[in-house]
Amino acid sequence: MPEGDTVHKIANALRPPLEAAPLASLWLRDRGDLASFTGAVVEEISALGKHLLIALGPRHVLHVHLGMHGKWFRNRPGEANARADRSAVLRIETEADRFTCARAPVAELLRRADLAAHPVLARLGPDLLAPGFDASRAVVRARRCDARSIADLLLDQRAACGIGNVYKSEVLFAEGIDPWTPPARIDAARLAAVYARARTLMQGNLGGWRRTTVRPVRSGDAWPLGLPRLFVYGRAGEACLRCGARIASRLQGDAARTTYWCPRCQPAGSPASIDVSASSTASPRPHRGAR
Ligand SMILES: [Zn+2]
Repeated sequence: MPEGDTVHKIANALRPPLEAAPLASLWLRDRGDLASFTGAVVEEISALGKHLLIALGPRHVLHVHLGMHGKWFRNRPGEANARADRSAVLRIETEADRFTCARAPVAELLRRADLAAHPVLARLGPDLLAPGFDASRAVVRARRCDARSIADLLLDQRAACGIGNVYKSEVLFAEGIDPWTPPARIDAARLAAVYARARTLMQGNLGGWRRTTVRPVRSGDAWPLGLPRLFVYGRAGEACLRCGARIASRLQGDAARTTYWCPRCQPAGSPASIDVSASSTASPRPHRGAR
């Protein structure tokens, strides 16, 4: 599932072949061939949470969000790839490569001047994987969110961006927090620690290996037979790697995303220390809307 770490890895992989290379062609499903971009140069490729931004020339930017099922494919120009072509939404060709983005729910061409007013991009919180990420800034923004639970808050990209459904469950397990705890019951220092933990877990997965939170792996290591790669995500009914209790799962939040947790390591109401001042210092202007 593409989360912030995946999108940063994609940006890292696209940079060498695309940055500074003049485009041979650009095609978008809803716009067709964009002949005016032939010869345009990719100036910068960046990840912002789960969003990929490809700056084209001085005035435009391609914005891609992979959603749950989007994927990138790399081929030579003119080379057939039935899987990529069947559901392509964006195609970028240079003299040496053809990159196809398929099944992404968002692939749009924007003017750079319009980014500051974009309904989603302009409202994103700090990127958890950005250099100099400041967890206290995320906490201030989190206090303005209207999430009912800490799990829903972690998915709210307006507080901090990059966490998806996998890291949501893994971070809360790592921190020993009940996913249903209301955010206002978690004090600022603890909430900052939650975001810092998310950053650390995601940073650990920027290499070429498959995503894991169970232990750091180096490229080339053989994974021990039978050892799960994640502590709780996707492991409903299996034994907790820490305490042996059965991992639970349930749909949560307005978007009904599945949450996985260990009822013994993350007991109801945890963390136990409750900071009542957290709710009284919340901003008077909550922001609402789509995540
Ligand atoms: Zn446990």
